[in-house]
Amino acid sequence: MEISEKAPAKLNLSLDTPFRHQDGEPEWRMVMTAIDLSDYVHIKTIPNSKEITVQTNTGFLPCDQRNLAYQAAKLLQSKLDKPEGVEIEIDKHIPVSAGMGGGSADAAAVLRGLNKIWNLNMSREELAKLALTIDSDVPFCVYSEPALVTGRGEKITPIGPLPPMWLVIAKPQASVSTPTILRQIHEQHLNHQEVQNVVSAIKQQNFDKMCRHMGNALEPITMKKCPDIIKIKDKMLQFGADAAQMSGSGPTVFGISQKKSRATHIYNSLRGFCKEVYLVRALDSLTTK
Ligand code: ATP
Repeated sequence: MEISEKAPAKLNLSLDTPFRHQDGEPEWRMVMTAIDLSDYVHIKTIPNSKEITVQTNTGFLPCDQRNLAYQAAKLLQSKLDKPEGVEIEIDKHIPVSAGMGGGSADAAAVLRGLNKIWNLNMSREELAKLALTIDSDVPFCVYSEPALVTGRGEKITPIGPLPPMWLVIAKPQASVSTPTILRQIHEQHLNHQEVQNVVSAIKQQNFDKMCRHMGNALEPITMKKCPDIIKIKDKMLQFGADAAQMSGSGPTVFGISQKKSRATHIYNSLRGFCKEVYLVRALDSLTTK
């Protein structure tokens, strides 16, 4: 059987980590949204086989067990009484190592797709719990709708649609390794964020309040490695964005505006400065645009 799944990128409207667990993993407080910049994942199951294969349209991604989509297929394969092989084709559009959760989005798409093909009847909560064993962003990507994300990334609380807005995304040339940034977190020195205020602003559909409280506690750490983040943020604000900040562990920066004309102005102005710029909207859910 075959199925195609959309794998949307994510952005962090708010990101904080209040403490580390005893095993060294960070506890997260994040407000996340999916956006309409997606990879497309085609999944085909092969009877009487155990083999998992991954193909992508980019040359530099691993296609073996290091690929998060491979790991997702392996996890669900282990739930079957009679093994089936899986062929995965990833049509990549999400920039890699950008803080936009591209690998996690692909893995979540495989979990959703195989859950349907193999009639495993796993709930989103069950899939999210399993997803955490792949990476901390995979549980959110199983949902791919605006949510408060807590725990190690596995507690997903949907918070309803964002206030209507446009997002301009710019990826600096440099790529950033998430583990390298996470190793440099010292909770006592972080600029802790008002994550709950962002949640209440969204529930109240209060765009201005949301902008006032947005922030990313990891920004100062990544900025040291990639000063272009500061330049892009400044330019976005100068061109009229209501808020601008880094997503995840970076280095991607996004700016937001309620007006399409202003967002288009920011998009056009940044294209002279940055190679990879996108104008997108947030997704309310996996089925809407
Ligand atoms: P993170 O969730 O760690 O913040 P990110 O959004 O910054 O991730 P990704 O695009 O997910 O970055 O890539 C992170 C790493 O995962 C890269 O080293 C990449 O080689 C690896 N990776 C494994 N599978 C995939 C995949 N399907 N797509 C993209 N990257 C993948």
